[in-house]
Amino acid sequence: MLAAGPSVARLGGGKLRLGRTAGPGIPGFVLTAISRRALGHCLRTWSRLYRILFLVAMGACSRESTEPVTRSFASMGTQASVTVAAEYRDRLPELTEAVHEVLRRLEDQLSTYRSDSEISRLAAAAGRFPISVSADTRRILELARRYGELSRGAFDVTVAPLVQLWGFGRRARHSVPDPEVIEDRLRLVNFRSIELQGGSAFLPAGMSLDLGGIGKGFAVDKAVEVLRRSGVRAAMVDLGGNIRVLGQAEPGTSWTIGIRNPFESERVLGVIKLPDGMAVATSGNYERFVEIGGRRYSHIIDPRTGYPVEGMAGVTVVSPDATGSDALSTALFVLGVESGFEVLKDVPGTEALFIRDRDPVELWLTPGMATLFTAVPEYEPAIRVLSAEARK
Ligand code: AMP
Ligand code: MG
Repeated sequence: MLAAGPSVARLGGGKLRLGRTAGPGIPGFVLTAISRRALGHCLRTWSRLYRILFLVAMGACSRESTEPVTRSFASMGTQASVTVAAEYRDRLPELTEAVHEVLRRLEDQLSTYRSDSEISRLAAAAGRFPISVSADTRRILELARRYGELSRGAFDVTVAPLVQLWGFGRRARHSVPDPEVIEDRLRLVNFRSIELQGGSAFLPAGMSLDLGGIGKGFAVDKAVEVLRRSGVRAAMVDLGGNIRVLGQAEPGTSWTIGIRNPFESERVLGVIKLPDGMAVATSGNYERFVEIGGRRYSHIIDPRTGYPVEGMAGVTVVSPDATGSDALSTALFVLGVESGFEVLKDVPGTEALFIRDRDPVELWLTPGMATLFTAVPEYEPAIRVLSAEARK
């Protein structure tokens, strides 16, 4: 567990969640607020004992009953959790099941680990025939193309042949790939070649897709939609560090997300307060990498060169939706601080925190991120706010 004070609740996906919510860092699910029955019992017992202590206990009980409650489960190869504000406590099991069901369905459609998913069948039929796809698959491919354009090709879901080549797929690597092989694979990478027509999609021969940089964010947006449709107005969904919130954690208290130091994951750099409806995601170097010849290579590949990205340690993006924060954190990791900041000028409402792979740590914040992020005192001197002028 993390040594960053008693309020730290969770680790995962480059972030940890802060606040009084217990979370998926703890096995199973944790109900932090006590049940109504227990509350009643608590009050009766205490009132019989001491009047003063009764009042103190009542204060404690009513305070606890305002806390959000969380349920966690495994999904899409990672840990997921649904947290709802206290007023929805009784509906948590039913709401969690509804979210779980949506994630299961999306995994069936989008996973590259399942040979019968729409995405796998699309690759298997590449160059031969189109595959009919669900509305969700079509939508995620449209969004993937959109983030490909926005990021000027830094985000590209057709990067799959290179991800495999560098040993992030089923086969591990023991040596750096030959430059000619990298060149060959690069010819198969171009998101503009994904063809969408009506209800079907088509890929040119040899091409394949990897939705690892956008799929979880998309799934979180779908999950939040389910909660909204169920009448929930205050909740948080977390899928492997892709987080989106609704409303507030407690009346007057924003949802708060802790950001880890990518160089020392046990330490917290600071916290981000997420406004109603917003999402956050982190792309980082420290959780997934391959080691070849004693050197670490990032799992994020620069689709322009065919090589794993160097020079960045982590990028956190806050965005109006989780698809955007997922895709853009991956994209900005490829682009780096200057080009990333430049790209963000075309994406309203989206803010970023960049950390280069450099010692000592420097936290580069867009001006909007500077209003959402609070560093812990130790890292305050490391903050650099990017100039708003440069963003025009
Ligand atoms: P994330 O953790 O969201 O940054 O996503 C990283 C994952 O996206 C990798 O593990 C790959 O599966 C995939 N990926 C790697 N490089 C890229 C890229 N340039 N564009 C889109 N997806 C990528
Ligand atoms: Mg991503």
